[in-house]
Amino acid sequence: MKRTFLLPCLLLFLTSCLITGQPASSTPKPVSPIQNTPTDRSIYKNGLAPEYQDILNKLPNASYYEIELNIADDLTHVTGYETVFYTNAEDVTLEEVQLHLFANILGGKMEMEEVAINGEVINPKYSLSNSLMTIPLKDPLKPGETITLKLGFDLTVPQTVDLNYGVQAYYDDVLALAHAYPMIAVYDDEGWNSEIPPQSGDVTYADISFFLVTVEAPKGVTLVASGSEVSHQEDGNRQTTRFEAGPVRDFYLAASPEYEVFTLESDDIKFRFYTRDYLQDGAEAALEIAARAIRIFEERYAPYPYTELDFVSTPTLALGIEYPGMIAINESILTPDHPYLEATVAHEVGHQWFYNLVGNDQLDDPWLDESLTQFITLQYFTDEYGQAGRRGFRQDLEGRWAYLGNEEIPIGLPVKSYNGAEYSGIIYGRGALFFEELRDEMGSKVFDNFMQDYTRSNAWEIATSEKLRSKAEEHCKCDLTVLFEKWIYP
Ligand SMILES: [Zn+2]
Repeated sequence: MKRTFLLPCLLLFLTSCLITGQPASSTPKPVSPIQNTPTDRSIYKNGLAPEYQDILNKLPNASYYEIELNIADDLTHVTGYETVFYTNAEDVTLEEVQLHLFANILGGKMEMEEVAINGEVINPKYSLSNSLMTIPLKDPLKPGETITLKLGFDLTVPQTVDLNYGVQAYYDDVLALAHAYPMIAVYDDEGWNSEIPPQSGDVTYADISFFLVTVEAPKGVTLVASGSEVSHQEDGNRQTTRFEAGPVRDFYLAASPEYEVFTLESDDIKFRFYTRDYLQDGAEAALEIAARAIRIFEERYAPYPYTELDFVSTPTLALGIEYPGMIAINESILTPDHPYLEATVAHEVGHQWFYNLVGNDQLDDPWLDESLTQFITLQYFTDEYGQAGRRGFRQDLEGRWAYLGNEEIPIGLPVKSYNGAEYSGIIYGRGALFFEELRDEMGSKVFDNFMQDYTRSNAWEIATSEKLRSKAEEHCKCDLTVLFEKWIYP
C-alpha cells in the first residue's frame, strides 16, 4: 500500500508537457441522418449493461437532447444547435424554464443566437453573470406536458485553466468541453435550483437525461465523449462523429490531436484511456485499477451501468474529475508508481455510482457524492489490500481532518459554506470517517445491506440527506438522530 495524501477533485498544480503523437485511428462508420424521436430509446441499448436495459422503458419524463457541435479548426470556437424535449415532471405548473450556460462562468463565453419554444422565437432573460437563461412560457407548462426548445449558440473556449480546475478549456493541445451546451436546471423543493457554483466544488446538479450529439471537427483530432460512438465519417479535412449517451446526467467531450488510445476489456466492459503516447504505462496501470475498482463496487453496491468507461488526460488542475461514463485525469499523475494514481482512479470510478447513477445536489449536499466516494475508496483499499490498505488510506482521511484540528464542523453543509481547507478536511476527510462511524453503529452486515439498498433504490434519482438517513434507519431499525446531529447537521 502506497502512502498517499489525496486531493481528488481538488486543486493540485498545473503541468505543461508537449510531445507529438499520432491520433488514434478508427474505422469510419457512415453518419446517417438523425431519425430518432424523443421516445425511441433503442439506440441507447448497446451502451447499457444488460441489468439496466429495462430503464429505457422507464424515466418517461427524462429530457432528450439532440445537439450538433461544430468545432472550428483552431479548437477554440464551437457553434452549436440544440433541440431539447423537456417534460414537466413536477406536480406544479411551470411559468418558466431555466437553463445553465456554464461557459459564461468558466472563463469562456456562450452567446445565444436563437431561442425558440415550439417553433416560436422568444427573448429569454439572463442572470447569474449570464450563466443562467430563464425562458418565460407564454402558455404555462402543466405537469406531464412537453415543450420543444430550439437553441442556437456560439461558444468561445478559454485558453487558460484558471477557473473551476480548467474543466472547460483548450490548453496544451487538449480541448476539454465540460458542460458546453445549454443544460436544463433541476426543479426541486426550492423551485428552479440555480446558483453560481463555488470555485472549489463541482459545477453541475442535473437530472438524468438522454443525448444524441453530432460533432463536426477537424479530421486530425481524436474525439472522446460520454456514451458510445454510433457513427463516423470523414470528408476532406473534417470529420463528423455521432455519440449516444443515456441515461446520464451530463455530456462530456474531449478532443486532441495528441491522443493515443490504450485499451483493456474486463467483465464485459471496454476500458479505454486516451492520452499522449509516452504516458502508456500510466494509462495501462490506471485501466487495471479501474477494472479492479469496478469489480469491487459492483459486488458491494450495484452493477456498473454502461458497457464502456473512457479516460482522458486533460490539463485540469484537479487530480481527476468524474463525468458520466468518462473520467478526466491530470496527466501529471499518469505514471504507474505515482502515489496519487490509484486513489484518484478508484475515487473517480466510485463517482460512477455516487454522482451519476445516484445523483445529488453537488452544490448543496457535496457529502452525498464526495464524502461517500471517499468512503468507498477506503472500501476499495480494504477489499484490495486488507487491513494494511485500509490503514494507509484511512491515515489520509484522518490527516485531512487533523489539518483542521479535528474541529467538528458539520459535513452536511453546502460547498459555499466551507473555505478551501475546510472543504478538503471536512468533505474529503471527516465525511468519509462518518460512514465508518455509521457502520460501527449499524453493524457491518446491516450497513452493507443498507448501502446496497440505498444505491439501488436511488438509481437514476436524486438522493438527499434525509433519504440516506431514513434508508439507514429502516435497515438498522434504530434512531440515528444523535449520530446525524454529531456529524451531519449544523
Ligand atoms: Zn470526487
